[in-house]
Amino acid sequence: MKIWMTRPLPARVQEAARPLGELHVREETRPLDAEELRRALTDYDIVLPTLGDMFSAEVFADVASPRARLLANFGVGYNHIDVAAAQAKGLQVSNTPGAVTDATADIALMLMLMSCRRAAEGERLVRAEAWEGWHPTQMLGLHLSGKKVGIVGMGRIGLAIARRAHFGFGCEISYYNRSPKAIDVPATQVAELTDLAASVDVLVTAVPGGAETHHLISDPVFSAMQPHAHFINIARGDVVDETALIIALQQKRIGGAGLDVYEHEPQVPQALRALDNVTLLPHLGTAALEVREDMGLMAVDNIAEFLRGETPPNLV
Ligand code: NAP
Repeated sequence: MKIWMTRPLPARVQEAARPLGELHVREETRPLDAEELRRALTDYDIVLPTLGDMFSAEVFADVASPRARLLANFGVGYNHIDVAAAQAKGLQVSNTPGAVTDATADIALMLMLMSCRRAAEGERLVRAEAWEGWHPTQMLGLHLSGKKVGIVGMGRIGLAIARRAHFGFGCEISYYNRSPKAIDVPATQVAELTDLAASVDVLVTAVPGGAETHHLISDPVFSAMQPHAHFINIARGDVVDETALIIALQQKRIGGAGLDVYEHEPQVPQALRALDNVTLLPHLGTAALEVREDMGLMAVDNIAEFLRGETPPNLV
């Protein structure tokens, strides 16, 4: 069995994968290019891809009879894989849910605090030697404790954000979700996204990317938000109409934004970088060694089950 790991993963993960077959580790850190995407399907039995490896319908259409049988994705988000097109060609697709939940929720809280309390702006001030010293009305931000937090997408990560915000900061939680959801945190489900946006001090997105959620957050949502309210995106860049967000920030129609993901990663528009009222992180959601090891080991487990002739535990 030839297995292709499309990025160097932590040593522990590579060691766990090695006994499963003939392991090939691609040393580059950038996503697969057009030729490599097709070669992944023709030259390997199992591929362990990740974010940015764009297995689109066109890629599957170009490979008449793929050798590959499983795409064991590293990551919970798999909007870079056209799952229907993969399945039509006989491939299974798995992901790594759960392993990413707490780390990503932590980054959401970090962005909420950074945006509300103007942390990045303050850090830039200090580094620029422009800080004139403490005074009572300097750099006043929004106090997060006890505020109303709205969560778009009450799945694993949404719930972990709700727990942190409610039990840690005494926030009042409301949420918008595709289907009705009962959760173990005091919270109210709201039927209309713009109603949620209008009622909260901080709005956080935690839905998957892809066609169904493309530009779910666009001008009507920003227009509904209160001028002091902050918007946080830890989900996927394409969930947000970035142009509409930039305009809302430029016109100070919202209080600020905290972003971990972007519509055209790794490009971050100059218009965003020029703004002081936005905090910009380089997709750090799961960036901690033990989390990346857990994700990798989960992907390896999916491969091992597949090789035993069983159903991988995390098929999508
Ligand atoms: P999950 O458990 O599947 O939760 C997703 C939630 O979104 C579900 O509750 C789902 O509703 C809801 N949803 C889906 N489509 C919707 C729509 N059109 N409108 C409203 N709600 C919708 O996934 P998760 O583990 O929480 O992960 C969520 C996403 O976070 C991932 O897909 C990934 O893209 C992103 N992520 C980002 C990072 C990062 O590094 N920044 C790290 C990990 C994950 P239902 O109850 O109807 O299914």
